[in-house]
Amino acid sequence: MDTKYIFVTGGVVSSLGKGIISSSLARLLLSRGYRVTIQKFDPYINIDPGTLNPYEHGECYVTADGHEADLDLGHYERFMDTQTSRANNVTTGRIYQSVIDKERRGDYLGKTVQIIPHITDEIKRNVKLLGNTGKYDFVITEIGGTVGDIESTPYLEAVRQLRWELGQNALCIHLTYVPYLRAAKELKTKPTQHSVKLLQEVGIQPDILVLRTEKELPASMRRKVAQFCNVAPDAVIQSIDVPTIYRVPLTMHAQHLDEIVLRKMGIEPQGEPDLERWNHFLDKIAGAEKEVKIGLVGKYVELQDAYKSINESLFQAATYLDHKLALHYIHSEKLTAANADEKLSGMDGIIIAPGFGQRGIEGKFNALKWCREHDVPTFGICLGMQCMVIEFARNVLGMEDANSTEMDTKTPYNVIDLMEEQKSISNMGGTMRLGAYDCVLLPDSIAAKAYGATHVRERHRHRFEFNDEYRERFEQGGMKCVGENPDTHLVEVVEIPGKRWFVGTQYHPEYQSTVLHPNPLFLDFVKAAIAYGEEKNNQL
Ligand code: GLN
Repeated sequence: MDTKYIFVTGGVVSSLGKGIISSSLARLLLSRGYRVTIQKFDPYINIDPGTLNPYEHGECYVTADGHEADLDLGHYERFMDTQTSRANNVTTGRIYQSVIDKERRGDYLGKTVQIIPHITDEIKRNVKLLGNTGKYDFVITEIGGTVGDIESTPYLEAVRQLRWELGQNALCIHLTYVPYLRAAKELKTKPTQHSVKLLQEVGIQPDILVLRTEKELPASMRRKVAQFCNVAPDAVIQSIDVPTIYRVPLTMHAQHLDEIVLRKMGIEPQGEPDLERWNHFLDKIAGAEKEVKIGLVGKYVELQDAYKSINESLFQAATYLDHKLALHYIHSEKLTAANADEKLSGMDGIIIAPGFGQRGIEGKFNALKWCREHDVPTFGICLGMQCMVIEFARNVLGMEDANSTEMDTKTPYNVIDLMEEQKSISNMGGTMRLGAYDCVLLPDSIAAKAYGATHVRERHRHRFEFNDEYRERFEQGGMKCVGENPDTHLVEVVEIPGKRWFVGTQYHPEYQSTVLHPNPLFLDFVKAAIAYGEEKNNQL
């Protein structure tokens, strides 16, 4: 079968959940036995989101092959249960960089290099890269931004051309928003009509419309939209708010999105998608009654998306353990030694978040001292692990002012420091230790028991490392380095044996936790938190 290309565009407003719709469609097609991937084309000029502050664009996701990617790739992996790569996320910056490199090499043979055809051709080449591998039946391409934005214009032109060239092997799904005006008690479809007009103006007729709405859309309204927008009535699908994003594949299937897509692409759907394991997870979400309270100590607590993958990993773990996740964000800048007890004592487990820079760091030390002394299940991730090491150095090993050289270049105890090869790097973009690396774990460590393995591979995104010169002093003092990279011997995991659960990972396990395969370390942490919560309750 020829590779089929599905384009997902968005209109009216941003943040409608194109990523969730793309992921849900991918889930349905995968569950029908097709080979599917999703890619995201982002119209901004940054080469990748690695240099973007979380305030701009939420969490930066990392693929196994070491690409700093848009957080939507996290959704893709969590829904699809397969890995993405650098090729799954392209930005305008990458497109232009590649065209300019070709121009400098003389590849254009003296031609004037222009947006059409050179930029659009480069976009088209990238759209087809994964499809050309022969590994996929369907390539879903999500176009970032909103129709009508100046910066998405070349992408839409590329989509227009591809639809023309690919015929029935290409299809466009347009996602819009139907607002509800409370004063008038009415749902309004005019913005959708305008948005489709904008698409038509650039020569794209959407095949399917997905309408985001907070209220049920009456059939008459869907018919009206179909009529105004040249779309078949059954291809106007509503995406109503649901309690969990993981239910969206079902709401899409209930309206036959997968069948409509297949038929429009010349495939007669056979049978039903096999969603047994997916439904099992949804049943667990619905059945969970008891709560597990996790506190996440970080500095971006006001941002819903800054710790997206951690949030989802915790949710998956809690769900499999038949619990509801009550996640409490605790602002590290406001956490002092004096208020630690008040802010943390209600929690069953504490996560110390990843991050960069000085802001909020003292709050993380205060939290860690309290957690260590009160023996609360504690999980430090990346900077969180580095903070565990620093706090232990300062308060247990007596190394006053120990620090990471990221925060204090003159610290007398540089327990966290740059690796030699990082010292000469001055470019910020794409130069960290990125992507999946091997880690060998000591067999009797909490981590090894959690994974049920002594050899794991997890993803990294950091510049600084545990300073090996101090390893012996830590080990003698009671903090063990239980995981290391087999090639470089860099420390990957630290633990304090004898505590309920006190584990820090230099890597980010949250990048590898999917609905069908929750990350074992998160499962074990949440399990320990549940046990501790029950223990506390029994003492009351
Ligand atoms: N800032 C730290 C480093 O670069 C930790 C990074 C992180 O938490 N992702 O090493």
